[in-house]
Amino acid sequence: MIRLEPIAVEGCRVCAVNSRSRAIARDAGVPTAVAYCDAEIRNHPHRSPIVRRPLRALGIAA
Ligand SMILES: [Zn+2]
Repeated sequence: MIRLEPIAVEGCRVCAVNSRSRAIARDAGVPTAVAYCDAEIRNHPHRSPIVRRPLRALGIAA
């Protein structure tokens, strides 16, 4: 069976920490800790990856 795991979102510090912790937990053979890190990466909110700029910069009255 192929197992899928959540991927750390680029630039997210929460993901980075959990991704590191997950690798350590996996090396240490602690599946409950791996599952915990997976859940943390999956469940915390992320800001939109779309870069936004003010309408005024486009010459559109805001
Ligand atoms: Zn994240």
